[in-house]
Amino acid sequence: MQRSTEKLYKIFKLEAEFNYSNKAVVGGLEKLTDTWGGEARADGLSEDVIQQVISLLDQYPSLDTSARAEALTKIGQILDIAGIKHLPLPNNEKSSQSRIQQSVESSQPEATQATQKKNRRGSTRKRTSTSAALPQSAMPQGLEVSVTTVRGIGQKQSQLLAKLDLHTIEDMLYYFPRRYDDYSKLRTIKNLTYGEEVTILAWVKSIKTFTTRNKKRKSTQAIVSDSTGSIQLMWFNQEYHMRYLRKNMFLSISGKIEQYMGRLVMYHPDYEQVDKQQLHTNRIVPVYSLTARLSQRWLRRMIHNVVTNWAPKISDFITEYIIEDAALMDLSTALKEIHFPENTSSLKKARYRLAFDEIFLMQLGVLKQKYEWTNLDGRVFDISDDWLIDRVKFLDFKLTDAQIHVLADIRQDLASGHPMNRLLQGDVGSGKTIVAALGISIVVKHGAQGAFMAPTSILAEQHYFNLKRLLANKEDDGAVLDKKDIRLLIGDTPAKEREEILAGLADGSVKLVIGTHALIEDPVVFKDLQIVIVDEQHRFGVAQRAALREKGHNPHLLVMTATPIPRSLALTIYGDLDISIMDEMPAGRQPVETHIVYPIERERIYTLIRTQVEEGHQAFIIYPLVEQGDNEESKAAVEEQARLQSKVFQNLNAGLLHGRLRPDEKETVMRKFRDREYDILVSTSVVEVGVDIPNATVMVVEGANRFGLAQLHQFRGRVGRGEDQSYCILIPETSDAAENERLLAMESTNDGFILAEHDLQQRGPGEFLGTRQSGYTDLRCADLTDVHLIEKARNYASQVFDNDPTLSAPEHQRILDALNHFWPSEEGDVS
Ligand code: ADP
Ligand code: MG
Repeated sequence: MQRSTEKLYKIFKLEAEFNYSNKAVVGGLEKLTDTWGGEARADGLSEDVIQQVISLLDQYPSLDTSARAEALTKIGQILDIAGIKHLPLPNNEKSSQSRIQQSVESSQPEATQATQKKNRRGSTRKRTSTSAALPQSAMPQGLEVSVTTVRGIGQKQSQLLAKLDLHTIEDMLYYFPRRYDDYSKLRTIKNLTYGEEVTILAWVKSIKTFTTRNKKRKSTQAIVSDSTGSIQLMWFNQEYHMRYLRKNMFLSISGKIEQYMGRLVMYHPDYEQVDKQQLHTNRIVPVYSLTARLSQRWLRRMIHNVVTNWAPKISDFITEYIIEDAALMDLSTALKEIHFPENTSSLKKARYRLAFDEIFLMQLGVLKQKYEWTNLDGRVFDISDDWLIDRVKFLDFKLTDAQIHVLADIRQDLASGHPMNRLLQGDVGSGKTIVAALGISIVVKHGAQGAFMAPTSILAEQHYFNLKRLLANKEDDGAVLDKKDIRLLIGDTPAKEREEILAGLADGSVKLVIGTHALIEDPVVFKDLQIVIVDEQHRFGVAQRAALREKGHNPHLLVMTATPIPRSLALTIYGDLDISIMDEMPAGRQPVETHIVYPIERERIYTLIRTQVEEGHQAFIIYPLVEQGDNEESKAAVEEQARLQSKVFQNLNAGLLHGRLRPDEKETVMRKFRDREYDILVSTSVVEVGVDIPNATVMVVEGANRFGLAQLHQFRGRVGRGEDQSYCILIPETSDAAENERLLAMESTNDGFILAEHDLQQRGPGEFLGTRQSGYTDLRCADLTDVHLIEKARNYASQVFDNDPTLSAPEHQRILDALNHFWPSEEGDVS
């Protein structure tokens, strides 16, 4: 069996054991869509098969239990996996064959493309669908009844709604419009002029279709008029409009005004039938995101039903005092206004109120989490000053003051009797690894186990070597571990070795395991896991972190990030963690010189690289992700490496690294680069995080305009790690000054915090929360750049919490309900 197929085989077996509860993979089986396609392509599976599988996986969470079993079985058939052509039926559920068949199959052909797009976009953009660990809306009980309760929604419609993730009344109340059509700004036909894009309201006066004589096409024409005049609408070869349009229908029509034989016309306009009634009361009309086969009008009417019937009955969970003090709109009104606003100012107030709720509950959630966490018992790991001083003495450098402070924090946490729960934030190159290593050494010295999770196998391997050097150096008589006590577990670890490691972790003979998410996906059991380190934590989801922590009994947790987070955001998102900041670089580092260089000057850069290599240094050249997807990304790097090697750097060695290489191939390339077999490493963005090659002094980023500042800063952090002057060269694709203005920030500062603020303002929070930081990027109303709102909501949340941390006062009952709903308890681990 191919690797990619085998992987699914194992997961599906497990999922069947979990009775199709979507727990076999952290974050849900839909998470597989991120990575599995690439693996399958590498295994040579056909694109058609891959897309079918991805499409089924993507729907998986929205299916009911028996449909899930069906879906997995179907994948088994598509992939021809003998063992999963017939998975066991789920417990307590009769298989309702026909219905399932429908829900799995009917949606397939059209879903395939959409899914494909979504996945590709999903890697850089905000996800729109909710997934397991996400905060839900802030609704108290009672709204969790099925959408079929609504008049006009039957079984069939509810299946279509399910595709939009709308299952309950509450889902519909919280399905906010994508945009609004403002009919208070309508145009009259008489005043239209050529070339404008407009929306008009008009009655259909006539409609006909005929075949044009010379061109042999079908032309459908309608005349529509309002009280000021009339205009012609025209479609070619779209006879079906005849079926929708009737004389005297009242329409809203949008499109561009063109000319035909001296008269104004609209070609292929969008139109929609309008209820005059509704327009009367609502001049601003919501427009929702749709799925195929649902009409805007229908959905709007259903949501109108829901809002009219249910919104007024909602009792507000925010205490009256806060509503008054913070001048908030009440919840019922806000939910009505966000869908069917009276006017723009009430819409704004509604949004503000709903955004307030999100931040308020998020903040209460993290505070509660922190409170619960600090009340847990943790094992005490205490060491003497002398022991620690000895450890530090063996290093071949002096710790910075910042490192010493953080080490003191960690030491105190470990001795506190409560589990450590700390975020270590330090710019790239500030030396976080050694601090983590010292933390680990304190724990393993007492015989307990540690786990260190990194986002990529290259990084995991690098940490593995470093940690062996730091903790198990033979020449160093203070070594806390033996080399064989430290193991590397990544997706690529051979089966036999994996067995050995798993056995060692279970019986306690392996003291420290370093790995990727393989640490949590596999049936890894620890005898006594007491410290968990998560590196580059923004690459991991909340759930993945929690899963690793679950493997021990209240272990100490240290998460590390090089992504600077503006304070307001840090307090909101990481409010449950204690935060340590390392704001100092090791001595002797020179700031990296950054230059924006336009494509025509590329030759100069090649010269710079040659000179640097002559002086014994090395260089990175990064190529961006081109929109068409991963293949393209690899292609750019592959082609450029060939060109550079044969035409530009004939006398130098250029290595090639990209995401489609197998992990062992990647490692070989990295090792060769580290051992200076390559002078130049041509790469896609896979080198982004953490990789440490102190000898490299040049970082060239092609297509620099495609990257966020935080990411460019990460690239830049790959150089300037030694004592020599290093250079970061940003080459945008064009010399368009306006587009490249953003890049100037890179020239002007080396401060990751400032760059992160820029990114936050310009690209929104997704950029540096990482796409995997599920939950936070899915806030529906709150804009994480709105510092004012965040501070305000946070202050009220803290106020409530400080007075009543368990929210047990009667006036807080509804807040507690809303909170439990927002962070359901089994998913409530937000750290
Ligand atoms: P990051 O914070 O980006 O993870 P690393 O832990 O990889 O940084 O450290 C970057 C480099 O700096 C490593 O080569 C490490 O050995 C070195 N280093 C760490 N601390 C110091 C120090 N106090 N003085 C000099 N070099 C240091
Ligand atoms: Mg690091």
